[in-house]
Amino acid sequence: MSTPVGPEPSSLICPNCHQQVTTRTEPKATTKTHLLALILSALCLWPCAIALYCTKCARSTDHFCPSCNNYVGTYVR
Ligand SMILES: [Zn+2]
Repeated sequence: MSTPVGPEPSSLICPNCHQQVTTRTEPKATTKTHLLALILSALCLWPCAIALYCTKCARSTDHFCPSCNNYVGTYVR
């Protein structure tokens, strides 16, 4: 089970070390992003595929505890 989190670092109690922390965020490309990029590439629209990877809205965000590095949750747009 993951904690509901937003696109920005969130202040919460870490479920692992039980400390009040502000999460460390890491943007990651979703499977949907890869698929869309693949389709765009197949259509010779690879500049669009590159643009897709550079667009923040095509990514989800992983949240980690800065204290114990525990995975807290993922924000999916
Ligand atoms: Zn922690």
